[in-house]
Amino acid sequence: MAARMCMMGSRTTRPCENEVTLPYCGSSEPDVCEQHARALDLAHDLEEFEIARDYVAGFGKVAEASGCRRLSELMDQACAECEMHLSVIEAERGMVWK
Ligand SMILES: [Zn+2]
Repeated sequence: MAARMCMMGSRTTRPCENEVTLPYCGSSEPDVCEQHARALDLAHDLEEFEIARDYVAGFGKVAEASGCRRLSELMDQACAECEMHLSVIEAERGMVWK
């Protein structure tokens, strides 16, 4: 029996050529390769942190308008934390395919 291949790109002219190892897309059977599972996780994390960063930036503007310095500092810290996580995720995304 032929090995099942990763479903990513299966409907394109450039399908993934790795064998499936993990269930991912709501399936109980393995359907994606390890690299694609990690890439999908990272894409999800990236989106979550981008949303969080945008919210924090909005709160930062409110804090600035309030004139409460401590609140502005906290929002700046939270924003920096989001940016740090985003750069860590971006760095790992770059390494998934190496
Ligand atoms: Zn794959």
